[in-house]
Parts: sequence; structure tokens; C-alpha cells
Amino acid sequence: LAERLQATFDKMKSRGKVSESDVKEMMREVRLALLEADVNFKVVKKFVNAVKERAVGQEVMKSLTPGQQVIKVVNEELTALMGGEQSKIAQAQKPPTVVMMVGLQGAGKTTTTAKVANFLRKNNNRSPLMAAADIYRPAAIDQLHTLGKQLDMPVFSLGDKEKPVEIAKGAVAQAKEDHQDYVLIDTAGRLHVDEELMGELQDIKEAVNPDEILLVVDAMTGQDAVNVAESFNEQLGLTGVVLTKLDGDTRGGAALSVKSVTNTPIKFAGMGEKVDQLEPFHPERMASRILGMGDVLSLIEKAQTNVDEERAKELEKKMRSADLTFDDFLEQLEQVRSMGPLDELLAMIPGANKKAMKNIQIDESQIGRVEAIVRSMTAYEKQNPSVMNASRKRRIAKGSGTTIQDVNRLLKQFEDMKKMMKQMTSMQKGKKKGKGGF
Ligand code: GDP
Ligand code: MG
Repeated sequence: LAERLQATFDKMKSRGKVSESDVKEMMREVRLALLEADVNFKVVKKFVNAVKERAVGQEVMKSLTPGQQVIKVVNEELTALMGGEQSKIAQAQKPPTVVMMVGLQGAGKTTTTAKVANFLRKNNNRSPLMAAADIYRPAAIDQLHTLGKQLDMPVFSLGDKEKPVEIAKGAVAQAKEDHQDYVLIDTAGRLHVDEELMGELQDIKEAVNPDEILLVVDAMTGQDAVNVAESFNEQLGLTGVVLTKLDGDTRGGAALSVKSVTNTPIKFAGMGEKVDQLEPFHPERMASRILGMGDVLSLIEKAQTNVDEERAKELEKKMRSADLTFDDFLEQLEQVRSMGPLDELLAMIPGANKKAMKNIQIDESQIGRVEAIVRSMTAYEKQNPSVMNASRKRRIAKGSGTTIQDVNRLLKQFEDMKKMMKQMTSMQKGKKKGKGGF
């Protein structure tokens, strides 16, 4: 998607109002891209219309091109479509909180049960009990026991002879007795949705009255995920979704469609096979992932609020003409610092030159030293960095109480910074080429 949008951005450089034809052209690409990312066509249609309505006629913000402006709206609408805010796992008024994990076979229910248990203990200081209610898959109970041992957490099971509904009830009773505050019930799945499975899950639901029914969906299954989510939701009434295998090569379209079709929030994202590879689901990050542009919007926003625009333009002109001086450098350092931690800022630049970033690594605690070095330069040296030679460096090192190596390092950083700033400014102008960026 990033590449497609890139091309469209490049065509859209005029400033002023966002015109209807700007939006039309952009949205044609967005529509195709979303369909390619396996988003349900009804969802796409609704989405495209919503964006069109909002974007046409908007004033273009000073620091954005019309293309970026439209993408900003696209990003906001995508985020809203996926629920807007991050949605937390439920907590019962009176413990234990009962959570039922449901989903098709292989979706990741058992793994996710352990992941959520681990998450609750680590982040919420809870003590969960896991319950093995999948009695059909031969190894399912053992699998959960193994995960329990690995995490040093209790697992409730009654073997594979008891009915799942009895296991669920037993687990809740056990949790009450042992003062465990969460019960996570790992249930059976099937290859396809069928009545028998739904009947069993409904029985469990009725028996233990769960606070949370989480549907575990494999993000790689794309369109299928939507149908699965729809039928689970109809028959059980879901309270949330966990998308697994987002670490894989998935296009992420499932996330959009599932939320839109079931109207239940996606609460977690599975990012790998290990028990600690679970993250709270952030709609905004997912939107950026689908659009393939890093956190470029937050970068634009940060830059907008923090950098004086006129001054930035001046600097940019200098950088382009490559006659950046150390006076500018000092000033730029100050501005960049006011935008937040440097590494955080650099990480937001999609497709940024990682090697150049490594070299920069301006340690904030050392900024004082950098300043001292620059202040030990003569006015002429500051304005003409290229005149620096060995004897000048020696004098500067002495004057600033640093070493020649420190001075050399700074000169190198200065050069890298010049390159970086060039990248940043060209990106803000919407002209950045290369993968990931626009
Ligand atoms: P269940 O049948 O729904 O209980 O699924 P399992 O928990 O047994 O998981 C099926 C397979 O998917 C296992 O090999 C898991 O390791 C794997 N798996 C689960 N979640 C993730 C995930 O987020 N990322 C990756 N890469 N693999 C996962
Ligand atoms: Mg399982």
C-alpha cells in the first residue's frame, strides 16, 4: 500500500484546499489497496465513503501536502474503524473474573490462554487459573499443563472424561477456593464452525456466566476470519477478539473487517509463539501498519506543534544547499530536543537510514559537552565547518575540556545529522522516496 500511495502522493503537490479530484484519485488507490489487504468489500465501501465525505474541501494544514492531508483522514478513519481506543480486558466486580477463550482449531486458543495469564500476572498483578476444557484434541490438556509449568501457574483439569461444562464449573469453584482472581477457560475448536461445538460453548457460557468471551482469530486467514467471527458472535455474543499471528506475513485486513463486522473490540495481538509475545491491541498502530507508513503521522504532528515553521523553512533551505553551519546545528539540537527523546523521534521515521541513525546516537546527557565544543569554535569555524583541520581541532578540544576524539566524533555526527535532516525535511514535504515512507 505504501508504494501505491507514494505514487499518488507524488502527483499531488499543489497546496491549498483538498479538491474532490485529489480525494477521488487517492481513494481509488486506497480502495484497491484495502481490497488487496483482504478487507471485506462492504467494509471498504463504507470506509471509502466516510473518508471522502470528511476529506473533501478541508483546508490543507500548512505543513502537509493535500496527499498527506487525505492520508491523515484515512489513518484517523481506519483507527476509528478498529475501535479507536485501546480496549482492556474485563474485570469482574467480584472475583474471579471468568474469561472464555473460543475459536477455530489452530487459531491459537491454548497458546493465547497462557499468554493472557502471563500478561495479567505481569501487568495487572493478577493470579490466574487456567482451565483445560478442550477434551477432544489428544494433546490439548498436556499442552496447557506444559505452558502452566513453564509459567509456574496453576492449571485446572479433570482429564478428558468429564464434560467441558463440568470442567469449567469445577475451575471456577477451585479459583474461588484458592483466591485466584481470574479463570481462563481454554475450550475446544473445530476446523469449521458447527452446531455441536456452538452447543457446547453455549452450555459453558450458561454454566459459568463469563465476564469475557474472547474470540481467538488467526490474522492470516483473512476473509475467512470475518465469517468465523460473525457466526461466533451471533451464537455466543463475543466481548472481544484476540488477533494471533500478526508477526507473520499478514496484510492485516482481518483486523479491520473483524471489528467492523462484529462490533467488538480487538483487545490483544499475538506477535509470536512464545508466551510473552502478546501485546495490547492499538488501533492506531494497526492503521499505520495497514497503511505501511510507520508512525509518520505522529511525527508530522509533533513537528507541527514544536518547530517554528518559518525558522524550519529557513533551516531546510540551508540543509538542502548543504551549507548548514554549527550555529544552525546548535539551534537545531535545541529544537529537536524540545520534540522529545531523540531515539524515539528517529524511530518514527519510516525507511530512515538505520545506519546513519546508529551513528548519530546523540546521548542526551552529552549534549552539554557538544555545546561546549561548538562554543569553543571561532565564529568563522562555526560558519565554515569545512575549514576544520588538526590544529583547529586541537585548540577546540583544549578550549572545551574535551579530547580530539570527542571533536572528531562531533564533526562526524554533524555530517550525519545533515544527512538525516535532509531526509526528515524532504519527508515532511511529502517527497520522500523509498520503502515504507511517502
Ligand atoms: P488452538 O488449537 O486454537 O488451541 O491453537 P494453539 O494454541 O495450539 O496454536 C496453534 C499454533 O499456532 C501453535 O503452533 C502456536 O505456537 C501457534 N501460534 C499461536 N499464536 C501465535 C502467534 O501469535 N504467532 C505465531 N507465529 N504463532 C502462533
Ligand atoms: Mg488448543
